Amino acid sequence: MLDEWNGKRVLITGASRGIGAAVAKQLGALGAHIAVHYHSSEAPAEAVAKAIRDAGGDAFTVKADVSHTSETQKLVDDAAERLGGLDLLINNAGDMLGRVGLDEMDDDQYDRVMDLNVRSVIMASRAALPHFRHAGGGNIIHTTSIAARNGGGGGAGLYASAKGFVSTITRNMAKELAGDNIRVNAVAPGTIATDFHERHSSDAHLNAARASIPMGRLGTAEECVGAYVFLATDTLSGYVTGQIIEVNGGQLMP
Ligand code: NAP
Repeated sequence: MLDEWNGKRVLITGASRGIGAAVAKQLGALGAHIAVHYHSSEAPAEAVAKAIRDAGGDAFTVKADVSHTSETQKLVDDAAERLGGLDLLINNAGDMLGRVGLDEMDDDQYDRVMDLNVRSVIMASRAALPHFRHAGGGNIIHTTSIAARNGGGGGAGLYASAKGFVSTITRNMAKELAGDNIRVNAVAPGTIATDFHERHSSDAHLNAARASIPMGRLGTAEECVGAYVFLATDTLSGYVTGQIIEVNGGQLMP
């Protein structure tokens, strides 16, 4: 059933760490050729690509700040050129960029959060279209968040709203691109123990999150991987588009 992965050409943004790195390693192990995208974490990204190659797979790294359209366009085109085409784009790069309440939300914070979490997703997807059309179809998976549905925790209003945008445009893109044989879906992680929370969440915040999770613990990046593999595998999910899979230990049951 997973034979289809041999030689599949994949670009994963934000694959240097956390969820993106875990997905990259698994898809690499399945036989995909992986463009491991990073921005500031060069050494970790190289380690991800090396781990894939050491396991018998094929991977290389590509750098870009996906907040900027020109860099994102170049990232997708360069990755597709080196991969010899593109079959799957995973728009995973993102960040809260700090907890900011309404009193402190200024233009700069608004632009930074929206550019990283929203502009990147739209522009990378747009840049992928000609490559997918050339291949006769394609697959896009966005990383949204539980915050898109629950509004996010303290100071996460801009980030949560940006992810709400990602969830909504997932559904519209699915409708618009179905005729091009391109599926578009998203994964919505809950509270996952990655560097993201090292940066943004206090112990008190994480304890409160834990208490609200029926499974009683945070998730791991590896536990998010199955949802991406399912959505990325045509033989498993070929009739699934415009959907959002929640991976959250029961923290939210929409
Ligand atoms: P992470 O470990 O902090 O990884 C974030 C990734 O995004 C890194 O690879 C980082 O690349 C990349 N990135 C950040 N800013 C970038 C920029 N300006 N340009 C390009 N790449 C950039 O966090 P994670 O938890 O794995 O997060 C992955 C995705 O899941 C994000 O979209 C996040 O919003 C979402 N999410 C996370 C959680 C959670 O609980 N952890 C929950 C819901 C959704 P460099 O390190 O190379 O700069």
